[in-house]
Amino acid sequence: MPNAKSLAIRPEDRRHKGRSRRESNNTLAYSRTNARATVQCAWCDRRFDSTDEYLTGRVRCARCGVATTSPWPSDEQLSAAYADWYRPESGRFSGLGDKVLRRTRSALANRLHRILPPGPVLDVGAGDGTLAGAFVRRGREAVGLEPYASGPHIRNAEIEEVDGNWSAIIFWHSLEHLRQPARALGHAATLLSPGGRLVIAVPNATSLQARVFGDRWLALDLPRHLVHLSPPALLSKVEALGLRVERVSYMRGGQVVFGWVHGFVGKLPGHPDLYDAIRRSEARQATPSPVLRLYALTAAVAALPFALAATAVEVAARSGGTIYIEARREPAPEKSPVI
Ligand SMILES: [Zn+2]
Repeated sequence: MPNAKSLAIRPEDRRHKGRSRRESNNTLAYSRTNARATVQCAWCDRRFDSTDEYLTGRVRCARCGVATTSPWPSDEQLSAAYADWYRPESGRFSGLGDKVLRRTRSALANRLHRILPPGPVLDVGAGDGTLAGAFVRRGREAVGLEPYASGPHIRNAEIEEVDGNWSAIIFWHSLEHLRQPARALGHAATLLSPGGRLVIAVPNATSLQARVFGDRWLALDLPRHLVHLSPPALLSKVEALGLRVERVSYMRGGQVVFGWVHGFVGKLPGHPDLYDAIRRSEARQATPSPVLRLYALTAAVAALPFALAATAVEVAARSGGTIYIEARREPAPEKSPVI
């Protein structure tokens, strides 16, 4: 076994990013970047001390159980991490993947449109606006917030800059990207109209797949994911905001099966990255050779039955790779008549 020191990325390796000498463990590579260590929990603001759990590239808070990415990336590091490869205008994935994304967004919009009170929908971290567009097609006003994209329904703003009354505020795999996620939820709760819903999907950092794949788990995604949430931490926060949790799902949040397939493929010799292999060439972090790409895709097909079985187990155990919740703002209680 090579010791930790011999695994360090030397300067000449950095210049050959994408070649075989590139560090194949993204979490480990990020943990060695030159940025200041994280000093407090991004979820509950507790200052870290020796009682917290120091993991590769993140620190798990002893009070709330949420892990915060460490070192804490600078704005420049985050911008670089979100550079064009992450979400190019031509779409992230080859044809089929983008179609699946559009269809799942459309199904989500359908379901929410049926249960929501009248009023506009706010999608925080809206990407290219696919979900917002799905609401607009159903005749409901919708706005997406997204700093890294533009589009007909997109505004480049933070949620803290938004006011008004909204029938739903959706954080679809976006909460974990925010520097102050708890503050964002707190503000979102104040913007909901009576009967409005807060809808959240985030990776479940205490899921079975997170535990099985450890530092190579797909949804760690350092440094873009700044917090790594657990279901109890998320649910207690939402309830503390005075919302009633109506639905919790460990399947609906998407990416559960893919997390397993990606993890199984990454366990093979050479640690092929399935995520890079299925993305369009302009959307890849590194460019795998055609042979490596074929290797990763073939392995993915072989891994699929095992991934489906593992998904069934973790969803049944309420330990799925994502958490999805819908929480409702109750109408204000009627004032008792003044006598
Ligand atoms: Zn904490």
